[in-house]
Amino acid sequence: MQTWLVTGGAGFIGGNFVLEAVRSGIRIVNLDVLTYAGNLDTLSSLDGNPAHVFEQGDIGDRALVTKLLAGHRPDAIVNFAAESHVDRSIDGPAAFVQTNVVGTLALLEAARDYWKGLEGAAKDAFRFLHVSTDEVYGSLGDSGRFTEETAYAPNSPYSASKAASDHLVRAFHHTYGLPVLTTNCSNNYGPYQFPEKLIPLVIAKAIAGESLPIYGDGKNVRDWLYVGDHCAAIRAVLERGRIGETYNVGGDAERQNIEVVNVICALLDKRRPRADGKPRNSQITYVKDRPGHDRRYAIDASKLQNELGWKPAHTFEQGIADTVDWYLDQQPWVQRVLDGSYRLERIGATA
Ligand code: NAD
Repeated sequence: MQTWLVTGGAGFIGGNFVLEAVRSGIRIVNLDVLTYAGNLDTLSSLDGNPAHVFEQGDIGDRALVTKLLAGHRPDAIVNFAAESHVDRSIDGPAAFVQTNVVGTLALLEAARDYWKGLEGAAKDAFRFLHVSTDEVYGSLGDSGRFTEETAYAPNSPYSASKAASDHLVRAFHHTYGLPVLTTNCSNNYGPYQFPEKLIPLVIAKAIAGESLPIYGDGKNVRDWLYVGDHCAAIRAVLERGRIGETYNVGGDAERQNIEVVNVICALLDKRRPRADGKPRNSQITYVKDRPGHDRRYAIDASKLQNELGWKPAHTFEQGIADTVDWYLDQQPWVQRVLDGSYRLERIGATA
């Protein structure tokens, strides 16, 4: 049985990844400091399952990481842990540098020392996979797509901190030989996403009858990928990717923000019409644009498709319909996030 150390496994993508990995027979040691974005409710189906070991702690705590590596002897490390919300990075960049840069460095140092101490087949097989974003490449005009050769040009404190972490990962391969892999993925959506990001935010507000805030003219374009397809891509890269390489991951599903919001409204109108019969897109309001808002991202994922045979299993239409249904079915999960009760257990508080 393989063991993987997953960081940030109580977050949105990490949580989906851990659930799938355990289902497929991998033992997961899950290191997560449980910021506001970490939610153990997501992992409640694994309670009591010996294939999931949860450890609350910081990737920047090198002594803790070293202890976990020595104790659990993982075959791989998958690093999801990050501060991930662009708006929060504009309000307070320091936490982004602390976790995404300083934290990743500490994790890399612990990983390097652990890997150096491995021998034979275990050493050859070990991998450090770093999960990153397409936002490191900056913004596109109306045409073109990001490839793995596109120069880095991050525009927000979030993307700058992720770019720095990508560079450190690369440097640890070139300088110390650490067997690293990096994935740069487009915008994800799907189950268990914290309702501060566009899609779950709009679903929650649309159901509650609140106004749906759209930045600027609503025409910013993102390339949307269903989270399960991202997790499958990470597995493919981890298991078959070439050491030292980076792989772009994208859904080939470019949509303007306003199109995404209209699709969600139409789905909800069908599944749960408003009492007054009005269409939900009447709730849309345009708000002042985010400073430095990148206009368009689009990913060329042909390297991943051609080398490793990955392609997304969900079209945007299918994925967004499944996601709307998931949020409608899982209102208790959403409610506990919205009212803050999902945070109580971690600090030993009672409701
Ligand atoms: P998220 O914010 O939902 O989850 C992040 C998790 O990391 C949380 O559980 C949090 O508690 C944990 N964490 C934060 N700081 C930590 C620290 N110092 N030590 C240990 N744990 C810590 O983020 P997400 O959307 O799941 O993104 C996961 C990764 O994927 C990030 O690295 C992000 O940059 C990358 N990514 C995200 C997207 C997207 O659309 N969400 C797209 C491409 C890449």
